[in-house]
Amino acid sequence: MPVDNFEELTNQLNGMSEDKRREKIKELQVDCVCPICPTYNKCAKETEENIFCIKGKSNCVKKEKGCMCPTCPFAAKFKIGVIYNFYCMRGLEIDQRKL
Ligand code: SF4
Ligand code: SF4
Repeated sequence: MPVDNFEELTNQLNGMSEDKRREKIKELQVDCVCPICPTYNKCAKETEENIFCIKGKSNCVKKEKGCMCPTCPFAAKFKIGVIYNFYCMRGLEIDQRKL
């Protein structure tokens, strides 16, 4: 399968220093709608979790109550969030593709 934009982004992030990666993720997370999702909870808010598609599973979310990833501008831009989602519970987009 050809490498898509999301895979390219993942490769870029993996090749960055910790600082640069953190900076880049901070830019990207502005578009993440997780904080307004019914599955997102108080613990996730308090620990500032988000952009699970890139960061992986949540340490807080334990129950799926619907997923807003299909409505997310970041997901639309990188064509993710429809086939795979619930990243907070199910893990990274890249890992879900391998299952
Ligand atoms: S796709 Fe989901 S996890 Fe990723 S940024 Fe959008 S809302 Fe957040
Ligand atoms: S990954 Fe999906 S289910 Fe989880 S908080 Fe974000 S929008 Fe909600």
